[in-house]
Amino acid sequence: MPNNSPIHRFPHQNLTVEGYSRAAVQTYWRIPELRIGFDLGAQPWEFMGTGTWFVTHTHLDHIAALPVYVARRRMMRMDPPTIYLPMHAVEFVQKILRYWSRLDRGRLPCELIGVEPGDEIELSRELVVTAVATRHTVPSLGYIVWERRRKLRSEYTHLAGHEIRDLRLSGVDVTEERRMPLVAYLGDSAPEGLDANPVMYEAQILISEMTFVAPGHRRDKIHKHGHMHVDDYVERSERFQNRLIVAGHFSTRYDERQIRRGVERRLPTMLDGRLQLCI
Ligand SMILES: [Zn+2]
Ligand SMILES: [Zn+2]
Repeated sequence: MPNNSPIHRFPHQNLTVEGYSRAAVQTYWRIPELRIGFDLGAQPWEFMGTGTWFVTHTHLDHIAALPVYVARRRMMRMDPPTIYLPMHAVEFVQKILRYWSRLDRGRLPCELIGVEPGDEIELSRELVVTAVATRHTVPSLGYIVWERRRKLRSEYTHLAGHEIRDLRLSGVDVTEERRMPLVAYLGDSAPEGLDANPVMYEAQILISEMTFVAPGHRRDKIHKHGHMHVDDYVERSERFQNRLIVAGHFSTRYDERQIRRGVERRLPTMLDGRLQLCI
């Protein structure tokens, strides 16, 4: 298989976070087991089989590969993909695809679905995605993937099996929906993107950005540009309940050694070993 873009892998229990993120270069992630991906800054050839994508915002390092991805799926005779993206961007992306379609002399079939903060997207009986507002320099969304199950309502848990069955047969809905946040994807954001959406701290897996690590960088300026510094993580270190935190989107002004040293100096336990870096 052609190896056109780097892929880093971060397994956690039965899920794998796969992808890559570097500021101003490209960002793309997917969870193959859930058959969904986030952001289309580039498109590794082997990601083509994932047919549902959630785009956080319209900076090119997060969306530039959208036409390429759609064209590849058509060429490989796969179903048109479904791409969720911020509502305001839909009409522009439709126009761009129309122009590219003429330049490329090929159709670009896909379903573009506009999303606003608070929207809920049903992927299957077990999986729901919700969108939240984050804070960046263009309108931006974060996404939460929930696993939902039907559980016996708490008021019935003391009943015996036959009593529950009788209730059910009499038409009572004895179950209620329970949701568990599996994956939270922040995209590019200032710390408000986490703080205003506390579920980001609770999801099993958090995929997040940590664009800056050097000491002395002015954080007010970083926040104004809709990004985060490693010190923002230090300040919030007690809040992260996630089992795996994948931080990426590091600035290209740092090399690998500077990033590792910058993070390990400020977070020596790497948040109890839960923090992994995508460099
Ligand atoms: Zn970015
Ligand atoms: Zn951005």
